[in-house]
Amino acid sequence: MRFTADSRDRVRDAVDMVALVSDHTELRRAGASEYVGRCPFHDERTPSFGVNPIEKVYYCFGCQASGDVFTFVMETEGLDFPGALQSLADRFGVELQTEQEDPKAAERRQRRERLQSLLGRAATYYERYLWEAREAGPARDYRRPRPPAPRPGPYNFSSGA
Ligand code: ZN
Repeated sequence: MRFTADSRDRVRDAVDMVALVSDHTELRRAGASEYVGRCPFHDERTPSFGVNPIEKVYYCFGCQASGDVFTFVMETEGLDFPGALQSLADRFGVELQTEQEDPKAAERRQRRERLQSLLGRAATYYERYLWEAREAGPARDYRRPRPPAPRPGPYNFSSGA
């Protein structure tokens, strides 16, 4: 059994990402489209977990956990993708529709589509975030090329005499 791509999109649209993540960690608003909190995927004292409720993606600068509403539910509730879809559909009142398809082919296609969509959305958003957000300063510094280390020398290793 496979849920239609349209079902998946309608679920994503219906999800309140801040409400969803707030079940697992306390979030505070950090910008027009950014919430931060302590990461639910690793133990930390200062918040490095960012949630964008508009794009509906998350990213942790501490452990690099990232994804969308579906991976969040899969990771926090130990569900597979159809399970996460069903869970979110129930919670946010979306009726799912199924398609008839060869299950193996459907599974492959679904995985590929989901991955592409997820990577595209998360990458686009966080690339921008990394360069623009003040909170991302340390990460930016890390990515900035460092000046070349001073060269040692001149040593002459060949003169044995
Ligand atoms: Zn983390």
